[in-house]
Amino acid sequence: MHVSVDSGLCIGCDLCARLCPLTFSMDGKKAEVRDPLGHAREDVSKVADKCPTGAIRVSHAEWTKHLR
Ligand code: SF4
Repeated sequence: MHVSVDSGLCIGCDLCARLCPLTFSMDGKKAEVRDPLGHAREDVSKVADKCPTGAIRVSHAEWTKHLR
């Protein structure tokens, strides 16, 4: 699983770091990915859906590996 935060979209609301603190942390006023595997994929996907600006991207790399 690959997780990224678009720092241009992030408004630093802290929601992701509060809900999944093992995966996200705050670097000043922006979120950053601490450990993509820190929380279960379902939990990280839920946080991505809740992000108010859609700044979090989650891709399921294990699926694309099988498509190559
Ligand atoms: S939930 Fe979205 S906007 Fe809020 S800190 Fe996390 S990435 Fe940034």
